[in-house]
Amino acid sequence: MTDRYAVFGHPIAHSKSPLIHAAFAHQTGEAISYEAILAPLDGFAASMADFIAHGGRGANVTVPFKEEAFRLATTRTPRAALAGAVNTLIFTGSGIAGDNTDGAGLVADLTRNLGVELPGTRILLLGAGGAARGVIGPLLDAGAANIVVANRTVEKALALAALFDNRVGGTGFAEPNAPFDVVINATSASLAGDLPPISRAVFAPRTLAYDMMYGRDTPFLALARECGASTADGLGMLVEQAAEAFFVWRGVRPDTAAVIASLRA
Ligand code: NDP
Repeated sequence: MTDRYAVFGHPIAHSKSPLIHAAFAHQTGEAISYEAILAPLDGFAASMADFIAHGGRGANVTVPFKEEAFRLATTRTPRAALAGAVNTLIFTGSGIAGDNTDGAGLVADLTRNLGVELPGTRILLLGAGGAARGVIGPLLDAGAANIVVANRTVEKALALAALFDNRVGGTGFAEPNAPFDVVINATSASLAGDLPPISRAVFAPRTLAYDMMYGRDTPFLALARECGASTADGLGMLVEQAAEAFFVWRGVRPDTAAVIASLRA
């Protein structure tokens, strides 16, 4: 008997999640199916209810429904509560459990795939939207010494930083002007080919510049390279957050390296 899973988003046609989960299922021998479902912008809850009624066991949720999924969940894991958003739903007989695997996905990519030793690192996090909020707790738990959140709308950076302890601070793009160990672009600027107006001084040869966007080179990564930093895109995070969701649903941890390599190829 095949268990049914899906990713819900709008748009959704571009999603690589069905490919990733099919690879995980093949590799682990888990009998699951995984499809992409385009939920109407005003019909996320109804579309999810229909999926559950037709045997859905769990779901991933992407843009723009992660906050709605948070509200739909009847219970939430601590990391979902801290993120204020849900990207993974588990349907149990008694309700809908909400989790968030984005932060764990980023930490796994940084530490396992990119060799970053997070304990003691100083991190500059660009952006204060859902993606930024979801990764701060897991980065701190993994040992980051401090995180400077820089955002176009400074008030949002300050409000986000205030949710955490004094290891996290908020500021505008112009202020940070000394090198960081890791600079993470969690803005959606790259989607439009834009570059957040940050100082070149945040990059040093030891810096890893990480763009959560994947699939093409970005002005942010190009600038970091020019400044001598090493760079990575968000494809590893995408696969690792999927692996964490697969583990939550099935109790089996897939091997991600092969899947990342085949997506890059
Ligand atoms: P949100 O819409 O919640 O937040 C967008 C953020 O980007 C805000 O901080 C916004 O600033 C900032 N921003 C938007 N446009 C610009 C610009 N032109 N210049 C500077 N800053 C800008 O988006 P998310 O947080 O959900 O997603 C952010 C990015 O992360 C997306 O590109 C998404 O694809 C990617 N992502 C990747 C994942 C992966 O697995 N690799 C997982 C999750 C997200 P302001 O507050 O001023 O509006």
